[in-house]
Order: sequence, then C-alpha cells, then structure tokens
Amino acid sequence: KETLLKVNNLKKYFPTKKGLLHAVDGVNFEIKKGETLGIVGESGCGKSTTGRVVLRLIEATDGEILFEGKDIRKYSERQMRDARKEMQIVFQDPFASLNPRLSLSEIIGEPFEIFNMYKPKEREEKVVELMELVGLSERLVNTYPHELDGGRRQRVGVARALALNPKFIVCDEPVSALDVSIQAQILNLMQDLQEKLGLTYMFISHDLSVVKHISDRIAVMYLGKVVEITTSKQIFQNPLHPYTQALLSAIPIPKIGQKRNRIILEGDVPSPINPPNGCRFAGRCPYVMDKCFGLEPELIDVGGDHSVACHLVNK
Ligand code: SF4
Ligand code: MG
Repeated sequence: KETLLKVNNLKKYFPTKKGLLHAVDGVNFEIKKGETLGIVGESGCGKSTTGRVVLRLIEATDGEILFEGKDIRKYSERQMRDARKEMQIVFQDPFASLNPRLSLSEIIGEPFEIFNMYKPKEREEKVVELMELVGLSERLVNTYPHELDGGRRQRVGVARALALNPKFIVCDEPVSALDVSIQAQILNLMQDLQEKLGLTYMFISHDLSVVKHISDRIAVMYLGKVVEITTSKQIFQNPLHPYTQALLSAIPIPKIGQKRNRIILEGDVPSPINPPNGCRFAGRCPYVMDKCFGLEPELIDVGGDHSVACHLVNK
C-alpha cells in the first residue's frame, strides 16, 4: 500500500514562563492509504498537539510533514488552503468552537460557504446527502445541535468533516464524551465510512480499548515521544514497552471480564517543560536500570513492523 502521510522528526515546543514546553519532541510515523493509525497516551502526552500540527492548525517547530510525498510545511497559504480540503478533523466536542445559533444545514454546509462551492440549491442537496451518509434523518436539517443527543451531534461533526471529500481525517477523541453503547455506533459508522470512501484516519484516544478495533497500527506516546509503534495485534499480544504493558494491564480481559495483572505506575508524569534526560519513563518504570537515567532510548525497529524505544528491548 502507498503511504499517505509520513512525519519525520516532528517537534512542537511552546514557550512558557517556566521554559520551553516540549509537547511533541521528535516524532516519526507513517500512515498508509486507507489505514488507521491509532495514537494512544495519557492526557498531556502530545497526541492532540500531534494531530493539530499534522494538519497545520498549529505550526510545527521542526520536522517534515509529508502528505502524498510533499512537505506541507513548505506550502504557501494558498497551497495550504487547497490541501485543507483533503485533510480534516473531528473533535471530541464538535460544537465547542461553533456558533450555537447555526442550524445543522448551516453547520454541515459551512465548508461550502468557506470555499465558495455550489449554488444554494445544490448546497442544500449536498447537505442532505451528507446527512444520509452519516445516518441522520433529513428531517433534522433545520434543527440545532443542542436539540440533539451526543451521538447525533457527533454524526454532525463527521458529516461536516466529510463535506469537502477529504482523504485524511484526524479523529481527536471523537467518542470520549459518549456513552459506551453510543461509542460503538459511532466507531462502526467511522469504519463503514472509511471503507466506502477510502478514508485514512489518525485516531487519537487516551483509551487503548477504543482504538483497538478501529486501528491497523497503534503508536503509544509518552511525554512528547512515541515509545512503541506496531500493528494493533502486536500491541495487544506482544507489547514490548513497559509503559504499553502498564496501559494494557488496565483493560479488562474480554469475555472473562477480570483485569489483567494490573501494573500500577508509581509517580507522576514528569513535566514536559525541561523533560528529564534519559528515558522519560524512568521515574515510573518498574524495570528501570541505571543507564535509563543517562541515555535516551531511541525508537528502534525490532522487526515485524514493530518499533520500541526501551533499553530492555534494545540492548
Ligand atoms: Fe524502563 Fe529503562 Fe525501558 Fe525506559 S528505557 S522504559 S526506564 S527499562
Ligand atoms: Mg487531547
């Protein structure tokens, strides 16, 4: 399969009063066409920032963002405007940033307005098509988001993201605010749409069990770094990084319903401002060794589409 998105040494630092916050600190990954890369980690690990930087909603500090082989960081504003049609985002709360007085037809059709596409009559037809595509009744076209339940609201968010016929969608915790039963419906919808439309997803979640079924591959992030990246299957069957093992140990075993031998992590996540030398997980790792404090483990390919950043694995 062809690569759609490839990110090389991506960094995003934010200046703060206390120093530089290393939100994303040298991240590498690629996503093949039609696949889903899950990005998992605790809040503050840099996963949402990675999603926004990749779309240039915020500018990277360093690195390359190759979309279909071209570095979009070098694009002019005009080129980027066109590229935006192909790269969209679905948020956890799709209406946090939107005017509550807009109706569904205005929300879903707004991208057409921004890009000056279609006459009013055609726009209406397009909006209804999009609503059908995401399983929303046409009857709702003139309602307002606050009149809808969470699942339908998220369907509106998805419809809007699909309006310009994108190739790539960053899904930033799209089901985290929903009840578990509704989560499954939205995840199924997103999977159906992916197949039907040939979409490629970057699916961000703090919850490994949410990304499990939707992801072909999963990247685990900790304090601005990718610590492990491999197939979804390998993450669950053969997790190699101690942090991945700890995340996994918190998920109940399907069917049996009991938890695995839970690995409780001691200590807090260190501050991303002036992060520690050596392995960033050292302060919480059950297997920590002397060299972990001095030497930063690199993300190394261990074979079988599996890369890990840990001195235990890479001796
Ligand atoms: Fe633990 Fe050391 Fe591996 Fe870091 S490098 S995860 S501290 S064993
Ligand atoms: Mg987030």
